[in-house]
This record gives sequence, structure tokens and C-alpha cells, in this order.
Amino acid sequence: MSVIKFSLKKIQITFNQDKPGGYILKKYFIFLTLFLLTYSAFAQLPKFNMQSQREKMIEQKNIHIKKMLQSESEKTQNQEEYDVKYYSLDLIPDPTTEILTGKVQIVGAVLSSGLNYVELNFINNMTIDGLYLTENPGTNLTYTHTNNILTVNLDQDYSQGQHFDFVVEYHGLPLYGFGFSSYHGSPMIWTLSQPYGARAWWPCKDIPSDKADSVDIRVTVPSELIVASNGVLRETIKEGANTTYWWHEKYPIVSYLVSLAIHPYTVEYDNYIYNDLADTMKIHFYMFPNHVNELQGINALIKDQIGFFSDIFGPYPYLDEKYGHADFLGGGAMEHQTCSSFSFWNEWVYAHELAHQWWGDLITCDTWHHIWLNEGFATYSEALWAEHAYGHIYGPHTASMYQLQESFYLGPGTIYVEDPLTQTIFSGALSYNKASWVLHMLRHVVGDTTFFEILSTYYNSPEHRFGTATTEEFQELCEQVSGMDLEYFFHQWIYESGYPIYEYAWTSTDLGDGTYRVEGYIDQIQTEYPLYKMPLDISIVSISVDTNIVTHTLMNDTVIFRN
Ligand SMILES: [Zn+2]
Repeated sequence: MSVIKFSLKKIQITFNQDKPGGYILKKYFIFLTLFLLTYSAFAQLPKFNMQSQREKMIEQKNIHIKKMLQSESEKTQNQEEYDVKYYSLDLIPDPTTEILTGKVQIVGAVLSSGLNYVELNFINNMTIDGLYLTENPGTNLTYTHTNNILTVNLDQDYSQGQHFDFVVEYHGLPLYGFGFSSYHGSPMIWTLSQPYGARAWWPCKDIPSDKADSVDIRVTVPSELIVASNGVLRETIKEGANTTYWWHEKYPIVSYLVSLAIHPYTVEYDNYIYNDLADTMKIHFYMFPNHVNELQGINALIKDQIGFFSDIFGPYPYLDEKYGHADFLGGGAMEHQTCSSFSFWNEWVYAHELAHQWWGDLITCDTWHHIWLNEGFATYSEALWAEHAYGHIYGPHTASMYQLQESFYLGPGTIYVEDPLTQTIFSGALSYNKASWVLHMLRHVVGDTTFFEILSTYYNSPEHRFGTATTEEFQELCEQVSGMDLEYFFHQWIYESGYPIYEYAWTSTDLGDGTYRVEGYIDQIQTEYPLYKMPLDISIVSISVDTNIVTHTLMNDTVIFRN
């Protein structure tokens, strides 16, 4: 995109009783506000130190990623040649030895004929105990396990459309992504796999663009422990001193969202009632026993948040399964599909992780380049919740972004992650805060009605729903719904670095006949970054017998504005 030519813009606003359609203002006071630069106080809203909590959460994620980056992270050529259909995980995490023993079945559809081996991501330290065709455990498939890739040699050449189906048995102490911790003297076993952690504890195609159509997860633990996981609990089977929890996720799921949270939890339930009181979805809370009282009030909010997001985005995607969340020691919080994990608790992080069930879980960023489609959306959803619950278009989250903009929001770097292997994927400034501002600006550029139409179209789109999306695809969808060319918008805000800095001034002249003439000047003065094409709201407020507020939206390539 070419650089937009920009020169000092003159905004001339004249109020004249004689001019048809002009603004008639009585004496007293005229006040011109640039909304973009307005800061409001939010004393009436609940205050949480959102920013420092988010920083902690992101820091935790980035510590995990540093460990995870020891492994290969790119999709291999072979992984382009098959599509995972189904995983079945049978897991025995032993809290005493801290050894995980696993048996994972993998079913995949072959995309190009002649496929005779399958590459899975699996960290080298895990030991392979067996590898065989599911239908014939007597067969032994040969394999290699180097560079954190498990290469399984299939029993024959598979042609396009055929399915392979085999089982990997293994054991080991996962290096990351899987924790054997202890809480108040009891085992607390947890997973946190985003972005590259699933491969540390189970062999899989650990790539966000390929969701399994469904997953079964069976976990055997000492009977005093409770296992929370994805989807619905099919069965609990008690055998001797152990119990097996069988969870089934029938909806497509990406590898990093497959999760476990295990502890002698106190489990409580609530109901989300929808469809004019005709239907009910169970809400599950897996709580550390000493947190139960503390969480009562805040847990009660969840059903309202599900209702609100369902109203503005589309129905909660997993209505016939559940919403659940579990306390864990993985650090921060994580939007595991139908069962989020939390190590801190407030209504904003609840709203954030819940919103991910739509933006992140139902529709997942296709690659880590596009992580803002997860994090920017979830972060902006916190502000949407604040707007709904507290009646202000901004809210405490956005207020905190204003307060910390110098240190946390404004800065170089692109929201589009150019190189996920060397750049910070979970940049608080870019993927979370700036990206949520971009959605707020998009809302203004296309208008409120169109913005929410974009979200519901995105939610309903067959090509993204239960699948993935890229920035380009989201832009195309925005353009289709709005009928606007948004190339400039996405280019400057997603793919370019920086932000505009405005300088402005205004004067008013009493024309002596009860009217005023107002002249305003505005300019972009940033030197490090190119000029921005953005609409800017300018309000003229007169305080008279009746307050008169007039708002104009100007593109900054408008030469002169008159009234
Ligand atoms: Zn998030």
C-alpha cells in the first residue's frame, strides 16, 4: 500500500442562524472534544489490577514457550499429506513416580496417494513402548524417533482418501506442558499445551490448522483424585484403588486445547438456561477445596457471561456438552475447550477465557502468525462484558490500557507475528492490547450494527466454524459484510508497526448575534511511523438551556469541513 499523503487539515465549523441546516447555539459555552484523546475516570466500576495480572499470565505462557521452542515447531511436508480425524488417549499419570504412561490411537485421512509414513510431533525424551495397527495389535510398525518427530512407517502405501489407524504406546516424564504438582498436600496434575506443549506428553500432529474431528480421553488415577477434561464425561470406572475417567469431545478440537486438570477437587454445578427456558446446559466448577467460599460469588457470574456472549456472538458453541473450569497450578489461565483452567480468578479473566470458547476454540488461529484472532478477540470481549455489565462503552479493562499505554500498549512491532519461532507470540502489547484496540477501531469504522454482524457472520461461517481462520480470511469476511474496502485498515493496523499521534487546536469566535464560529486544526505528527488513514470523531458540545452535542466523523484526508 502506498503511503497516504497528508497535510495539515483545517476544520472550519461555523454556526450561523441564517444558514439553513446550520447549528443554532445559544451563549454560555462551547466545547470541542477529540474523543480519541479523551480519558474518562471509571470510579464507579470494579477495579482490578488487570494489566499486571495479564502480564503475569503472558509471562507464564512465554516461559512455557521458551522451553517448548527446543522442539521443532514448523509443520513438516509429510504433515501436509494427511488430515487427523480422531485421537483416543489412554493415560495413566502416576503422582508418586511422576511418570506418564500413555496409549494414543491416531486415525488420519490420506490427502495424497502413496503415503507410507506419518510424522507426528513427540518430544524425544518420551520412550516408545509399542506401535501397531489398531485393528491388529500383533503387528509391529517400525519407526524412528529423532528431532522430536516420531516417524511411523505404515504397513502399506495408502492412497488418497484412505484412512490409517494405529496406536502408539509410550511412557516418560514430560519435560513441559504437563505438570505433576502438589497443592495442600494432594497431587495436582495439570496440562498447559499452548502453543507447542501437547507434543511433550502425547504424540500428535501438533499444528493448530489440523483439528481432530473428535477425541476420547481416558485417564486412570487413584480414586481420591478427580479428572476434569474436555467434552462430556461418558463414564467413570472404578477398579481396585483406581478410577478411570472417560471424557469424550465430539466437536473438532486442536491439539493444544486437549487438557487435563486432576486433584481431589470440590465439584459444584450451575445451570445455563437458554432457548426461552426450554434448555439447560450444565456448568461444572472444579475447585480447590479451600477456594470454594471465595469463588461462590464470581462463579455465579459465568451463566450471565455465557448468555451475554451468546447474544452478541452466537450461541455458546458446546451447548450439548458443558462449560467447565478447573483450578490449576499451570500459571495464568487457559481456554481449554469446554473446560478452562485458572490459577487466578476475577470476572475479567473469566470473561476472557470464556470468550475464547468462541474465538480460539470454535474458530482457531490457523497458524501462530494470526494469534491476535484468538487473543485480541478475547481481550476485547472483556471490554464488551464491561460495557454490558457496567453500561460504559469502555470499562476498567480499557481504562487500564489507557493508564498503561506508554509502557504497555504503544510501541513498535506488528500484530501479525512475522516469525513465530523468533518473535514473541503472546505479546501483551500487540497480540492482546493493541489487537483489542484494533477491533474497537474496526467497530467504529464499520459502525456498531455492521461490526456485530461481522462477528455473527464469522461465527456462522461454515469455512471457519469448528475450524481455523487467517487474518486475510477475516479481512475478506469484514469486507464482504460491510461492503467496504478495508485493505488500508488491516494493512496499517495488523501488518504495520506504530500508531498515529495527533496534534490539535481550536478557537471559537462570538459572532455577536448569539452564534459562534468554531475553527479547529488537526494534524498527525508522528515521525517514526507512516501517516494513518483513520476516521476521527469530533464533538462540539454547547452547554445551554439544552445541552447540544454534535459529532462529526472525519477521515483525515478530508480537506475542509464546514457547517
Ligand atoms: Zn487469551
